[in-house]
Amino acid sequence: MDISAYLEAVYGDLHRRDPAETEFHQAAHEVLHAIGPVLQAHPEYRHARIVERLCEPERQLIFRVPWVDDQGTVRVNRGFRVEFNSALGPYKGGLRFHPSVNLGIIKFLGFEQIFKNALTGMAIGGGKGGSDFDPKGRSVAEVMRFCQAFMTELYRHLGEHTDVPAGDIGVGGREIGYLFGQYKRITNRHESGVLTGKPVGWGGSHVRTEATGYGAVFFAQEMLATRGQDFDGRRVVVSGSGNVAIYAIEKVHALGGRVVACSDSSGYLVDEDGIDLELLKEIKEVRRERISAYAEVKTTARFSDRGSVFDVPCQVALPCATQNELHQQDATALTKNGVLAVAEGANMPCTPEAVEIFRGARILFGPGKAANAGGVATSALEMQQNAARERWSFERAEAQLATIMRQVHAECRASAETYGGDADDYVLGANTAGFLRVAEAMTAQG
Ligand code: GLU
Repeated sequence: MDISAYLEAVYGDLHRRDPAETEFHQAAHEVLHAIGPVLQAHPEYRHARIVERLCEPERQLIFRVPWVDDQGTVRVNRGFRVEFNSALGPYKGGLRFHPSVNLGIIKFLGFEQIFKNALTGMAIGGGKGGSDFDPKGRSVAEVMRFCQAFMTELYRHLGEHTDVPAGDIGVGGREIGYLFGQYKRITNRHESGVLTGKPVGWGGSHVRTEATGYGAVFFAQEMLATRGQDFDGRRVVVSGSGNVAIYAIEKVHALGGRVVACSDSSGYLVDEDGIDLELLKEIKEVRRERISAYAEVKTTARFSDRGSVFDVPCQVALPCATQNELHQQDATALTKNGVLAVAEGANMPCTPEAVEIFRGARILFGPGKAANAGGVATSALEMQQNAARERWSFERAEAQLATIMRQVHAECRASAETYGGDADDYVLGANTAGFLRVAEAMTAQG
């Protein structure tokens, strides 16, 4: 069987075994579609069945999370942790609390994490977890009790050398605090390195909060530089208004660009003066309200609950909300409006059809596993500081993050050149470079 037929058969097998896991199939397709030339150069990976092994998680945990709401009613949610691959280090990846969470979503995120983590060059394997718990509208006490119930089951699977969760959608510093407290209570160990994304006051790293957003902007900056461009004076659109979006906006503004639009699940906001970050943070992080509140305070801004944030003309687009949020028609609109670069701050925010449009139009496109690797890379820096009982300055952590993003970018280009001849093909570059590093380690470990 030739290599593309072989990869097609592996892909078909994923469908046959778990037909409902569409997001996982989509993520797997991107990788399987790219790695043909690597398998051509390394027949030993095919003999060792590295691809089949990579597509099957080492361990998948599904557990019950019973908790009590403020009315005294018992609630039951489902918890997940997919320990996907430990070839390069302990399983590493965030926890997502969102009603859309199911096993297929966690598998897609965990699969992405394997290659993303490999690309950072740090000693971290791939994993992901979460729950279908919806934090929206829940009191602080309810969120705390849920986190405690979640950790009461998960703790037995974790450890700084085994599995190290962090945050993702719905899980920030507050939740990490409650999870850590419960882990410590049960195990009687102040094991700093068992979770990352901790507040800076007790074991967290400076820049971890900002890292995913900053990193995506650093990656876009590197892409622009290959064409002699930068952020200065550029119009930028960022989707989302959560942790990744907020710090992407902050960094774009620091580099002289102007973010004119952002969004949340209720609609999008256009502010031609540039998004006022203090106001956005106040609304999203303190008041935890919808972005329409922004346009009520600042009346020159416009809120819309129709159409798409990507209809707003811009030169750089940073999708930072969630998977499959940027569709074919958005890619067409962005291309028509003269976008130069698109970097994925979220995981798999662009649909495969949208990616094809960007690639066809030769728009610089940074896939999430490269462009948003800054978050998990800074988590690895946090683990490093915890192990050494050190705390680095903000400047030192940010400089490390910038260096890592530059290296990830360079590695994508080099690998794309080697395996396809076109250094601008970041999708090919990210997938081949990440795969190669994991395949090498798996083969060496037998
Ligand atoms: N959830 C983030 C991601 O998608 C970060 C994971 C981590 O820091 O472990 O990469």
